[in-house]
Amino acid sequence: HAQKPFINEALTDFSKEELRYAQAMALEQVKNELGQTYPLIIGGKKIVNERTFTSFNPGQPDQVIGKFSSANSAQTQEAIQSAKTAFETWKRVPATERAGYLFAAAALMRQRRFTMNAWMIYEVGKSWPEADGDTAEAIDFLEFYGREILRLADEQPITHIDSEDNELVYIPLGVAAVIPPWNFPCAIMAGMTSAAFGAGNTVVLKPASTAPTIAYQFIRILEEVGLPAGVVNYITGSGAAIGDTLVDSPDVRFISFTGSREVGLHIYAHAAHTQAGQRWLKRTILEMGGKDAIIVDDTADVEAATASIVSSAFGFQGQKCSAGSRAIILASVYDEVVKRVVEKTRKLTIGDVTQPETYLGAVIDQQAHKKIMEYIEIGKGEGKLVLGGQSHGPGYFIEPTIFIDVDSHARIAQEEIFGPVLTIIKAKDFDDALTIANDTEFGLTGSLYSTDAQHIDRAKEEYHVGNLYFNRKCTGALVGVHPFGGFNMSGTDSKAGGHDYLLLFTQAKAISASK
Ligand code: GLU
Repeated sequence: HAQKPFINEALTDFSKEELRYAQAMALEQVKNELGQTYPLIIGGKKIVNERTFTSFNPGQPDQVIGKFSSANSAQTQEAIQSAKTAFETWKRVPATERAGYLFAAAALMRQRRFTMNAWMIYEVGKSWPEADGDTAEAIDFLEFYGREILRLADEQPITHIDSEDNELVYIPLGVAAVIPPWNFPCAIMAGMTSAAFGAGNTVVLKPASTAPTIAYQFIRILEEVGLPAGVVNYITGSGAAIGDTLVDSPDVRFISFTGSREVGLHIYAHAAHTQAGQRWLKRTILEMGGKDAIIVDDTADVEAATASIVSSAFGFQGQKCSAGSRAIILASVYDEVVKRVVEKTRKLTIGDVTQPETYLGAVIDQQAHKKIMEYIEIGKGEGKLVLGGQSHGPGYFIEPTIFIDVDSHARIAQEEIFGPVLTIIKAKDFDDALTIANDTEFGLTGSLYSTDAQHIDRAKEEYHVGNLYFNRKCTGALVGVHPFGGFNMSGTDSKAGGHDYLLLFTQAKAISASK
């Protein structure tokens, strides 16, 4: 298996009748499985609490996707202890065997492609292609990290001297708290979890409370491929109730988190505070927000640029840290770009994502809906609303919304909205555009549409983002191809899906023996 070089999983071509049929059948089948009660899994034991919370369909809030136990603090501690015990044996399991679990999980996920897609369509409101891309990326992470585990177990390059035998080995860290987001509920959740246990650590996984069912489907796959009990423990509940117990535990060695800047900073501060009995500096791997820009200069292919602005801003309702929430347009092409972006956005369909043609679903929940609508109100005082701005019930639907003529220091140009809101800013010239693009506290993705070689060279030097794209949208990083992670308040630049990522889940030991 490992001999085959990594390649990205192909996306499903839903223009093919038989594949549309397969997805529709999976949606029907999963519909029959909605509303079940799911347990916590601690050391392989399944525990159902009396206190539960529900995960529901954001487009149809009376449709319950699943009922989940609200773990308490004692159960969170138990999960940590279970991971701690399992670590003593798991850390000795050879790399080939650990990688084998990832490859086997990838194979099962490939078989269940349409089922995983269906869960995401119901639970988080992804469109068919968005859900399919998410499952494909999860498979990619498993395949990629499986190979990385084997690579790190190989002999590592060091300088050799005659008088000694020297080697460097990567060993695991210990118990991981893995706290993934709901927006890539399959890909990022599976990627973070599999990197952690694949590298030889044991895990307490606390999925996002709006996407616990998808995480459970993954746990089921791990059980089916025979991952030993206790290596990945699954606890559900609100971050407010159990997050600090998890993060503060002196037995937790590192925290892998993807989510908001606010929660990321909270975890960072808590992790820095050493607890009684704690023997290490807790490591944090934090991937947070973005306020990503697409710059269009006067040499750009306007048609391609405007198509990318629309898909980067409104794909999955703009709920991506990579979303192109700012478009920065040079004055000479501004009117033309605005006109075409508005025209293209007007054509986007919004509604029931179980239908293959629907482009936008609802935003994740009531809280997100409220926050986004508040930003739209703020935007009305900061720029000119040229499209959208309305919401439609009973689900949490918000129209794709465009503000133009916005000052680059306006709140809607600075703060992450995480919804279908595009802020368009006019730049005097290319210098001005670059300055505006960099003038945020984030630094995740950025794109430039240009055919001017000098502009491209300058952007390579000066555009301060972890993922810089030319003449391409700023979302949709591919595993292996675009190692993903950002600068400044976007997080620790962990480069998920790249060769640097697994190093964050290990520590290196140099071993030397005199001859
Ligand atoms: N990796 C995703 C992309 O490139 C974004 C991940 C996120 O939003 O958390 O679009």
